[in-house]
Amino acid sequence: MPKFCVAANWKMNQNKKLILSFAQELGDPGSDVDVVIGTPTIYLDYAKEQTAGSQVTIAAQNAFFEDSGAFTGETSPAMLDDIGIKCVIIGHSERRQIFGEGNELIAKKLQALVSKGFRVIFCIGESLAERENGDTFKVIESQLQSALTGVSNLQYITIAYEPIWAIGTGVAATSEQAEECHKMIREWVAKNCDSDSAKQMQILYGGSVKPKNFAELLSQPNIDGGLVGGASLKVESFKELIDIAKNQAN
Ligand code: PEP
Repeated sequence: MPKFCVAANWKMNQNKKLILSFAQELGDPGSDVDVVIGTPTIYLDYAKEQTAGSQVTIAAQNAFFEDSGAFTGETSPAMLDDIGIKCVIIGHSERRQIFGEGNELIAKKLQALVSKGFRVIFCIGESLAERENGDTFKVIESQLQSALTGVSNLQYITIAYEPIWAIGTGVAATSEQAEECHKMIREWVAKNCDSDSAKQMQILYGGSVKPKNFAELLSQPNIDGGLVGGASLKVESFKELIDIAKNQAN
């Protein structure tokens, strides 16, 4: 069974002062639970410095697929590597919806990163309209297919199932709704990639995760943690989520 993971997605929030106090208050969460913090690009180096010596993994929230060149405003895998960042969130719905990233671009990013040994937290999930049309599995399947087909080093991939209608809305998927999709994702990976990797793969749920609903989500057989936006911004609630995962892991 994969280790539980509590991954923060700070999005375009925080500043140096807040990161410093967050890191001091968080301390070292240890290694029972895999703790990741998706940090704005400009603060990656600083967050890494402030969490040095702890088991926290600092992750980028995006990266381009080329290592250098005329790509104004982008951050390359080589640049991340240069500052010791080896984990990247790819395909978040805000990248898809606000910045127009489609399955093809996301696949290129994911494949470039995993081929260079980066861990990728790969986000997928359906919109409300797609769910209401009964297209949830179809959408997830096409997202998986476009990014994972032919990828051999699946040990570098964590999947985050994030129904778009649950992100930042306060309306989380029920544990049954989430589990149904997580199970489908694991089965898809087993069938189309390989079954050992499917068993080992962390599949996180994201979308209004809070301390009050996290234990119930984690109790599902195919939910291995959470990708958390709002509740990761304050260290108190983030620590609560880590404690819930630690208790549930025991
Ligand atoms: C997210 O940003 O990926 C997310 C799930 O946000 P929230 O927890 O605020 O819904």
